[in-house]
Amino acid sequence: MEREVRVRFAPSPTGALHIGGVRTALYNYLFARKMGGKMLLRIEDTDQTRFVGFAENYIQEALAWIGIELDESPWTEGPNAPYRQSERKPMYMQYAQKLVDEGKAYYAFDTSEELEAMRKRLEAAKVVSPAYNSITRVQMKNSLILPEDEVKAKLAAGEPYVIRLKVPRKEEIRLNDLIRGWVMVHSSTIDDKVLMKSDGMPTYHLANVVDDYLMNISHVIRGEEWLPSAPLHVLLYRYLGWEDKMPHFAHLPLLLKPDGNGKLSKRDGDMHGFPVFPLAWDNPETGETVRGFREDGYLPEAMLNFLAMLGWNPGTNQEMFTMDELIKEFSLEKINKSGAKFDINKAKWFNQQYLKQKPDAFLAASLLKGLKEKGIECSEDKAVKIGNLLKERVLFDKELAHEAMFFFEAPKTFAAELIKSKWSAESATLMQELLAKMPNLPNFTAADVKHLAHEIIEEKGYKLGKVMPAVRMILTGATSGPDLMEIIEVLGKEAVLARLAFGLNEVEKTALA
Ligand code: GLU
Repeated sequence: MEREVRVRFAPSPTGALHIGGVRTALYNYLFARKMGGKMLLRIEDTDQTRFVGFAENYIQEALAWIGIELDESPWTEGPNAPYRQSERKPMYMQYAQKLVDEGKAYYAFDTSEELEAMRKRLEAAKVVSPAYNSITRVQMKNSLILPEDEVKAKLAAGEPYVIRLKVPRKEEIRLNDLIRGWVMVHSSTIDDKVLMKSDGMPTYHLANVVDDYLMNISHVIRGEEWLPSAPLHVLLYRYLGWEDKMPHFAHLPLLLKPDGNGKLSKRDGDMHGFPVFPLAWDNPETGETVRGFREDGYLPEAMLNFLAMLGWNPGTNQEMFTMDELIKEFSLEKINKSGAKFDINKAKWFNQQYLKQKPDAFLAASLLKGLKEKGIECSEDKAVKIGNLLKERVLFDKELAHEAMFFFEAPKTFAAELIKSKWSAESATLMQELLAKMPNLPNFTAADVKHLAHEIIEEKGYKLGKVMPAVRMILTGATSGPDLMEIIEVLGKEAVLARLAFGLNEVEKTALA
């Protein structure tokens, strides 16, 4: 029988969740939904020294923002509760103990000074990577070397110890990664990893494997930085006798710097002015502030689409995907092996595409909010029209109010170069004619004004492209922008007449000066 698909996202709450973590969660989610399986979230907080209280809320909010729904988590609960490793603490020791009893792990009593002395000794002997392993363990203070009664006495006396995995000296460990193919590692390159720490907490490796087993995880989909740990995990599954329940592994490609040279870091974001975290965050404990995509104005659907394409492609030219479409198209086979360059311009492009699709009410509300902050009043009706005119011209909705300012503030001056390049006697005549005839227009619609302007231009034998840019300059202060006739309609008769009169006068003054 096919195994039920159960995947998990297992963040450590050590700070703000990196955007790469959100992508990992997303790929897990897409795979789970595609396969009709379950998506779990487990908080890996065994390293209490690196624990940050606010990080858990941050993770929850960030995933919800992107639209990832969890079937089981610390916040939704489920049959495998608890979902925080710190709350599962009593569960792990029995597995470490079992390994000790079967001779696959051992107690180690070495103090940090003794470990340091070992490292120095090995370095002096020119050992390239000094490690506690099958060769060096014989010189150390552990239950493989010490007489049994001494070990017992130490344990009875409550001497601090860790439990280490007894990694074999010569063995080939293989795993078939769903993205990278066969990975082969020689056991001599793996050190005797600590499984249980002296504070009674398991390490990441033990807790991660035990929980994946107990939670019946079928696929481990995680970042490439965990690939070096995978052989050790395979060994643990074998030693614990759980090989038949071992999950499939899929290690996702790294997120790379914009130029493709190295791993994306917070510094890259700081340097190039973009966030690498989903949400802004002020960490009250450290005073650290990070900027977030949400607060920078990215729409969640744009971010979702951008992240989905960062390391995965559908094999077609389609770029725009809703969550449902992603679920339909997603497959682990289409994940790239090589790292994904973090191209922020692509994220902006997606944002623009989704912004253009937003309903009028969304754009209008956003515009009204921005205008209000500037102390400008505007009717709903007018906001809808302006939003529609400007949506093609902004990347973020929060730019709308700024871009809309010319509707509310008439230009006060005109740059001399602008006048020089746009102004002509013909354009002045056209504006005078407009000033004279516009008051009689029964309806001041874009179509009516256009008709009138074209009539004048034709009658005088002018060229449209020669005379209209000056009208735009006088009305808006700029040389480009949305459809001029639409702008005129929104401005309204009174404002247009006033601006034309003022502009003609201003230019004349400049010309005389
Ligand atoms: N707790 C690990 C992390 O912070 C999880 C790695 C894994 O998915 O196995 O990324």
